[in-house]
Amino acid sequence: MTSSTPLPGSHALAQPSSLDLGGRTALVTGAASGIGRACALRLAAAGAEVRAVDRDAAGLAELAEEARRPGGPAGAVVPHVLDLTDLDAAERAAAGADVLVNNAGMQLVRPLEEFPPDAFHTMLTVMLEAPFRLIRGALPHMYAQGWGRIVNVSSVHGLRASAYKAAYVAAKHGLEGLSKTTALEGAAHGVTSNCVNPAYVRTPLVEKQIADQAQAHGIPEERVLSEILLKDSAVQRLIEPEEVVEAVAYLCSPQASFVTGTSLVLDGGWTAH
Ligand code: NAD
Repeated sequence: MTSSTPLPGSHALAQPSSLDLGGRTALVTGAASGIGRACALRLAAAGAEVRAVDRDAAGLAELAEEARRPGGPAGAVVPHVLDLTDLDAAERAAAGADVLVNNAGMQLVRPLEEFPPDAFHTMLTVMLEAPFRLIRGALPHMYAQGWGRIVNVSSVHGLRASAYKAAYVAAKHGLEGLSKTTALEGAAHGVTSNCVNPAYVRTPLVEKQIADQAQAHGIPEERVLSEILLKDSAVQRLIEPEEVVEAVAYLCSPQASFVTGTSLVLDGGWTAH
């Protein structure tokens, strides 16, 4: 699978919805690639100054260059190279953010009895503990001004399990609970917290797991898309990062000020089963 592979049911995206984040600062983690990259550009297009956090310095530099091109977004994209396993640094980085998008993540597909404990620990650190520390760092400013938006990029795997994804499923289920608790505490301060839950998105994270999935399920790589990834999806295609970030944009909009503590599921019908 490559980014140029045509997929059944793909369609041209409509114009992005209007959203004005002029004067706001948005922090997006995992901004060097995939959904995070699209999110950084989308929020900058809405006028926000975006702190683009990732451990991938080259990817962030490329993103910042793209944002500076003529015709680029209204808001600036400011790269912030950071490995989120440095939890103290993560908490400090979030100070002053008006919008926080917890997006960074990774995947490892292994049966439980072969799942490396250090990989489990790292995934829980990056995908659950770092979001907690970023929220902790962001809330004082949000509470002081009476407005804040927290969007946690969860997954269908925040709501459903799949075999061989113990760390990912555990981290995303944990993130759902963290997001709901943040919503309850933040409501009185004008802060909303929600999850966005896509099924398989066309990003490097998915492309990298094809080989692992083939090995874990004992099938050839060319059968992974139809037999594993799209098995439970009524809509037989991957979702694009640009579609996911429109859900993030909606959750940051004034129209969504009553939407909190919930999960916006973009799964092509997967959880309808
Ligand atoms: P991706 O691999 O394209 O990008 C993930 C980014 O996170 C990378 O730029 C990577 O460098 C960064 N990152 C990873 N570990 C880090 C660390 N320790 N410190 C700083 N940055 C780190 O992945 P993606 O598909 O865009 O995924 C983004 C989010 O969306 C993840 O939370 C993922 O679980 C979620 N998601 C993805 C899919 C999918 O199918 N791609 C589906 C549902 C949910």
